[in-house]
Amino acid sequence: MYGFIRKESSFRPEDAVYRETVLSGDGWLRTLKKGETLRVVDLEGNQAVDAMFYDAHDPDNHYSAGKTIKAQNNIYLTTGSILYSENGDRMLEITADLTGRHDTLAGSCSNYYNSVKYPGDVLYMHNCKDTFMLEFSKRGDEEYCKRDLAPNVNFFMNVPITEDGVLEFADGVSAPGNYVEVTALMDVDVLISNCPQLMNPCNNFNPTPIELMIFSPEDEDESN
Ligand SMILES: [Zn+2]
Repeated sequence: MYGFIRKESSFRPEDAVYRETVLSGDGWLRTLKKGETLRVVDLEGNQAVDAMFYDAHDPDNHYSAGKTIKAQNNIYLTTGSILYSENGDRMLEITADLTGRHDTLAGSCSNYYNSVKYPGDVLYMHNCKDTFMLEFSKRGDEEYCKRDLAPNVNFFMNVPITEDGVLEFADGVSAPGNYVEVTALMDVDVLISNCPQLMNPCNNFNPTPIELMIFSPEDEDESN
């Protein structure tokens, strides 16, 4: 499937230095230190997890969809994919992947996006851009603001391209317990919105929780 490289992690959940369940509609913002690994677990399957990455020491140097796609000549991310920053730095590497379908093009849902895409009174539905802004505000500083919301990664989100070159939002291909892992190649601020979108087939019209785990490099040594 578009170069999917399936790889299980060598980390054991019980060795995680951090674990948190994030409900749909909630967000998460935390620094991942160089060498640390973040696992995102799709607990119930078919969930879309919007993620953005920032150089922790220079937030303007954020994840670049364009540089990442160009470097690997593939719009989908899987094991071995390097996520590049605007300055061309290697930010993270995908080091384990059980689904092979992580979107780089569709962006995150917002009130205006939803009102164009979906019928009904959707303008005021909670959306990923709202969650991102809420996470920025919770930091209590002015490091991040709306201008920092650049094109993001959508873990587990299935957005195939039709033969006509159109993005299609399709039923998810993930399954309960599937996960993807990224290992930080520099200190990275990770921003996540567990998408609350009720009208997106990628969520199977039923947004569900995810679990986040962090592993430090020493954990892997201990288990070997
Ligand atoms: Zn969303």
